[in-house]
Amino acid sequence: MARASTMPDPNIIVWFQNRFVRLAEANVNILTHALHYGTGVFEGIRGYYEDKQRELFLVRALDHYERWKQNCGILRIHVPASPSELCDITADLCRKNGFHSDVYARPIAYKSSERIGVHADDNDAHAIIVLPFGHYFSEKRGLKAGVVSWRRVEDNAIPGRAKICGAYVNSVLATDEAHRNGHDEAIFLTESGHVAEGATCNLFMVRNHKLITPPVTDNILEGITRATVMELAGKELHLEVVERSIDRSELYGCDEVFFTGTAAEVAPIVEIDHRPVGKGEIGPITDKIDRLYADATHGRMPGYKEWLWPVYGSAIIEKTA
Ligand code: PMP
Repeated sequence: MARASTMPDPNIIVWFQNRFVRLAEANVNILTHALHYGTGVFEGIRGYYEDKQRELFLVRALDHYERWKQNCGILRIHVPASPSELCDITADLCRKNGFHSDVYARPIAYKSSERIGVHADDNDAHAIIVLPFGHYFSEKRGLKAGVVSWRRVEDNAIPGRAKICGAYVNSVLATDEAHRNGHDEAIFLTESGHVAEGATCNLFMVRNHKLITPPVTDNILEGITRATVMELAGKELHLEVVERSIDRSELYGCDEVFFTGTAAEVAPIVEIDHRPVGKGEIGPITDKIDRLYADATHGRMPGYKEWLWPVYGSAIIEKTA
């Protein structure tokens, strides 16, 4: 189950209305369009602190900001800064707050007009908040997941790939049902009955030494961790990676299943719908992918350093430039 969150420190410095302010001062009006109609687009970026290198690495931050800007375009929200400028602001926030721990960055862009009425205009705003962050799921020996009765939101209703705030009601309903049914995380099916993903993470299945994951056309969020894992599995483990629709009952007979996500990381699933997955324990391929993912994102694999945006290293470069 996901950890209960504690209230963040109100003195943390955040990026709000194009300046650095204390979290306690970063507030919106009760009439804000996004609050009433869900017209925001958000992101989630992790940073891992690697003790040995005394470095905080923002993981695939450029990719996240490119996705954010693209998704904002779906809702016609304008974020003026470039992806690399946004990475700089995020690294700056980490330094201003003196973070020497794992962190999670939450960029959010939204329709900011203060009035009644759904029509969208061009009053857009955005913010970036960075907070210290641990594991999303507290269950490290493997998750119990359950298929929920809610279906994954359809692309032609609200595009699930766009990380739109309002679309997350879908994930909230699914998570609530899963928890009440005694599961740690939900598994969504599409309206056509295929496996889509978790409430906040993508899904992979191992069957006959192949890594199988639903295609991007099955209403999933096109996860950056999903792409990372696909690349690592192919290059490092020489596994065949297949994108195809998955039937629900395949989950009951496959060898291994795991979730991926920025917050979720690589999260093994040991039980689905009260049935054990494989031997009911963390499988060997999941375990290897979990380790590879941790090494690559903590700057311990030189071949993947281009994925990482060093927070303190970039400060040194700036000073000497
Ligand atoms: N699916 C959903 C619904 C999500 O909210 C997330 C988290 N962003 C993911 C999948 C995983 O995406 P990523 O690996 O880019 O974090």
